[in-house]
Amino acid sequence: MFKSVNPATGKEIATYPELTKDEVENRLGKASAAYDSWRKTDIRERTELLLKIADEYEKNKERLARMATEEMGKTLASAIAEVEKCAALFRHYAKEGPAMLEPECWHLASGGIAEARWLPQGPVLAVMPWNYPYWQAVRFLAPTILAGNVALLKHASIVQGVAGLMEDMMRDAGAPEGLFQNLGVKSDAVADIIADDRVVAVTLTGSEGAGQAVAKQAGHHLKKVVLELGGSDPFIVMPSADLDKAVKHAVKGRTQNTGQSCICAKRMIIHTEVYDDFMGRFTEAMKAVKAGDPMADSTDMGPLSSAGQRDTVLDQLEQAQKNGAKLLFGGERLDGEGAYLTAGVLTDIDPAGPVASEEIFGPIAMVFRAKDIDDAVHLANNIPFGLGSSVWTSDKAEQERFIRDIEAGMTAVNQMLASAPEAPFGGIKRSGHGRELARFGLREFMNLKTVMLP
Ligand code: NAP
Repeated sequence: MFKSVNPATGKEIATYPELTKDEVENRLGKASAAYDSWRKTDIRERTELLLKIADEYEKNKERLARMATEEMGKTLASAIAEVEKCAALFRHYAKEGPAMLEPECWHLASGGIAEARWLPQGPVLAVMPWNYPYWQAVRFLAPTILAGNVALLKHASIVQGVAGLMEDMMRDAGAPEGLFQNLGVKSDAVADIIADDRVVAVTLTGSEGAGQAVAKQAGHHLKKVVLELGGSDPFIVMPSADLDKAVKHAVKGRTQNTGQSCICAKRMIIHTEVYDDFMGRFTEAMKAVKAGDPMADSTDMGPLSSAGQRDTVLDQLEQAQKNGAKLLFGGERLDGEGAYLTAGVLTDIDPAGPVASEEIFGPIAMVFRAKDIDDAVHLANNIPFGLGSSVWTSDKAEQERFIRDIEAGMTAVNQMLASAPEAPFGGIKRSGHGRELARFGLREFMNLKTVMLP
C-alpha cells in the first residue's frame, strides 16, 4: 500500500494499492505486446501522438500541478511551470526528433555502402524520483515514444497520484494500450523487473544508493543503464562577476523546489576579494525567502517533500555543526505539522569533512572562501559528485579555465544551470553516467544497426 501524505499539513490524502506479482506480470505482457506493434509504426504516427500528449498536459496543467503540490510540496506556480515544460518537451521531440533519427551512410574503401540506422529495442524501465515528478519521468517518456520503445515507470512511492495522472494523460491522448504503464511497486520489486527478459534496459534518476542497487542488477543481467544521480553543484563567483545577478541566481538556485533539485547550486565558492560583499547581499536575500503554504501565490518555498526528508537535512546540519561549521541562520522548523524548514547558510565548513562532500537536499547553502582561481577549482572538484556547475566571471580566460577544469557534466556561465530540451543533461563521477534530452537522450536505448549494402 502506498500512502500519499501532504507535506504541507502532515495529513494523509490518498492511498494506492501495490501491484501484486501477477499484476506486474500482466503489465509486462502488455508492454511486450505493445512493443511488437509500436516498433513498426511510422515516425509520423509517433510524432502525432507526442503532440496529442502535449495538448493533454497543457489542457490539464492546473489539475496535474495540484497533485504534485499536494503530494510533494512544491509551490503550485512551480508545478504549473513544470507541467508546461513537459508539454514543451513532447513538442520538441515531435518537431526535432525525426531529424535526430536520420540514418548515416558511408562509402566503403572496399566497395559498397554501410548505413547506420536507429532502431528501437523494447520496453525500458524508468525508476524515478519525486522532486520533479512529471519532468523527470517525461524526460524519459517523450524520447522513448519517439524511439519506438515502450515505457514502464516505477515512480517514487510518495507520488503515485502523479504517476496515475500520467497514465490518464496517455490514455486521453489516444496512446495504444501498454505503451506507457505505471508499475505501482516498491523498490524491492525492481530487481525482478530488471531481470525479466522482456525489459531491455533501465534508467534511474535518484540517489547514489538507488543508483548502485539498480546498476548492479542491470550489470548482472547485462542490460544498459543510464544513471542520473545526486550532486552538490558548485556556484563559483569571481571578482569580475556581476554580483547583483550572481546573488539573485545563487538564492534562486539554492531555494527553488525547497532546495530539492539535483542541479541546485549547493556549494557557493566565493573569491576572497568579493566574499564580504557577496555574503552581505546573499544572507540578506536568503533571510527574505518566504517558506509557507505552497498553494499561495506569495510563497517562495513550500515544505520539504516529507517530514523524513526534513529530518535528514536537520541531521546533516547537526553533523556539520559538530564538525565545526557555523550555521549563520535558518534551518529552522516552522510551527505546525508541515515539513517546513527555513532557508539557511552554513559557513566555516571543513572542506575535507563529511558534510562538504555530501548533497544537502534542502534549502541550506554551504559557503566557502576561495583565495584564487586554483583554490576555487580545487574546492569545486574536491567532492565525489560531478553533475552541474555554475560559474560567474566576465573574464574569458577564467570562463575557459572553468569549462576545461571543473569535473562536471554541465557548466553554466554567468547563469543558473537549468535543463533544456535542446541540451544534453547528465553527470560524471558519482553523479552517474549516460545522458538525457537532446539527440543523446533519444539514442541511449536504441539499437544503432549497421546495414551493409552492395
Ligand atoms: P531515491 O530514494 O534514490 O529514489 C528514487 C527512486 O529510486 C524512487 O522511485 C525509489 O523508490 C527508487 N529506489 C530507491 N532505492 C531503490 C533500490 N534500492 N532499488 C531500486 N529502486 C530504488 O531518491 P529520492 O530521494 O526520491 O530523490 C532524490 C535524489 O535524486 C537526490 O540525490 C537527487 O540529487 C537525485 N536526483 C538526481 C537527478 C539527476 O538528474 N541527476 C534529478 C533529480 C533527483 P521509492 O520511492 O519506492 O523508495
